[in-house]
Amino acid sequence: MQPESLQAVIKPHDDLRPQVVSFCRDNGADLIGFAPVQRWNEFDEVPLEFRPQSLFPPARTVIVIGMAMPLPIVETTPSFLHKELYTAANQELDTFAFNLTRFLNRLGHASYFFTRDGYASLSALKKKPYAAFSHVVAARYAGLGTIGMSHNLLTPEYGPRVRFVSVFTAAELQGQAVLEKDLCIRCEACVKCCPKDALTASPNRIAGDYDVNACIDQHIELVRKKCYPCGICIKVCPIGKDRVLYKQKGIVKKYLEEENKLAADPDDPEYRSWTHIRRYGGRLP
Ligand code: SF4
Ligand code: SF4
Repeated sequence: MQPESLQAVIKPHDDLRPQVVSFCRDNGADLIGFAPVQRWNEFDEVPLEFRPQSLFPPARTVIVIGMAMPLPIVETTPSFLHKELYTAANQELDTFAFNLTRFLNRLGHASYFFTRDGYASLSALKKKPYAAFSHVVAARYAGLGTIGMSHNLLTPEYGPRVRFVSVFTAAELQGQAVLEKDLCIRCEACVKCCPKDALTASPNRIAGDYDVNACIDQHIELVRKKCYPCGICIKVCPIGKDRVLYKQKGIVKKYLEEENKLAADPDDPEYRSWTHIRRYGGRLP
């Protein structure tokens, strides 16, 4: 419990929050969340050294920014087009976080950002299968979504088709409530469509068992074919209002049948918009 006078000193910066939201909207954020750093201690799910205050001791709030990945491009995965989208999104997110950090610093709030990936390379990840900081956990603590069977963060707006970056700031900003209702409907589309069987449904919890090495191996293969990353579990998830925008609701059957139908007929017209893209730019047939 803080003494009353200190509580008054560290009360949330109510006037700063709308400025941050405007900055984020003006600079292209699709989702914005605020997670007080105490959430990492309250939930006690993440080892101490991965928590924001271990990485940046002045941190009081983690601002999580999400950028949506357009569904029809994700659906072409694995493809050069999906690779280009992934690269562009990563560059945008890092630049965004860099600029937001400097914006907050100029306003007198010490800040720090964590790039969208925290593992440097797939071979490094193979040796130590963790990123240095989890944006998925940060986004959950910022009230942006819940973690699904695929271990991705599912959001009401875009399902798992959104990439995140996090900015840690010494400013105390009002947090959003953590979503209580799981968004994952346990349809197991992610489990059934994973080409490496890296996901296994677990009867007692939403998040499935996850063979991270099998998933990394898939990515290493795709790097060789120049159509990294995989993202099939992201493509097939039925959650997200983006499916309404793109009129792509109720097509899980199409995803589930994709492998067999294309094995029987590589020119199956139902999949032409995806297979056409896959025949260019990468090293797939
Ligand atoms: S990214 Fe690909 S290999 Fe990894 S879990 Fe998802 S579907 Fe499976
Ligand atoms: S595909 Fe289905 S089971 Fe997998 S995360 Fe999405 S809703 Fe959950």
